[in-house]
Amino acid sequence: MLTKQQIRYCLDEIATMFPNAHCELVHRNPFELLIAVVLSAQCTDALVNKVTKQLFEKYKTPEDYVSVPLEELQQDIRSIGLYRNKAKNIQQLCRILIEQYDGNVPQSREELMKLPGVGRKTANVVVSVAFGVPAIAVDTHVERVSKRIGICRWKDSVLEVEETLMRKIPKEEWSVTHHRLIFFGRYHCKAQSPRCDACPLLHLCREGKKRMKGKM
Ligand code: SF4
Repeated sequence: MLTKQQIRYCLDEIATMFPNAHCELVHRNPFELLIAVVLSAQCTDALVNKVTKQLFEKYKTPEDYVSVPLEELQQDIRSIGLYRNKAKNIQQLCRILIEQYDGNVPQSREELMKLPGVGRKTANVVVSVAFGVPAIAVDTHVERVSKRIGICRWKDSVLEVEETLMRKIPKEEWSVTHHRLIFFGRYHCKAQSPRCDACPLLHLCREGKKRMKGKM
């Protein structure tokens, strides 16, 4: 496991590589972000953006989503994985927003997590990106990168990864670090083909050293 200083070094290098890391899900308000994040489960942001481009023109409010038959909404998002369930969840969560929150998106993680289709990761993205609340949403990239580098243990659960990152990173850096780790995992330390040969973290990274053994 890396020391605090080594973690600092890694995060600074990643910040230099991706100074403009940000949420890549296109949205104009917290409600659109919530819908986009629900759609993004097990799906790329690029595909979600392709679908929401038309979706957000047709559906602007929670009322719009519940005013159509379920089958129509399913057809509108059918190119996205798990679209049947996601459409069902979206209509249910829109009903809750209308009945309990006056059509607005609740601002606490606890309230968000009570909505159908909204887990801890989704709630963390929404509170952090839409409302500026410090949070680290652990998606597949954040988990893989944190474990490969050696910030977290291989056996850690997603929740343990989140807790470890929150312990080791200053609170005011949680949200921006979350975006930088996603960019680093999406564009550099990729799942199948990490760019270890051109990585500034290689001398510290346990996974990189293993992969580059014999090539260095
Ligand atoms: S050395 Fe390789 S595995 Fe390690 S962080 Fe860099 S790209 Fe990822």
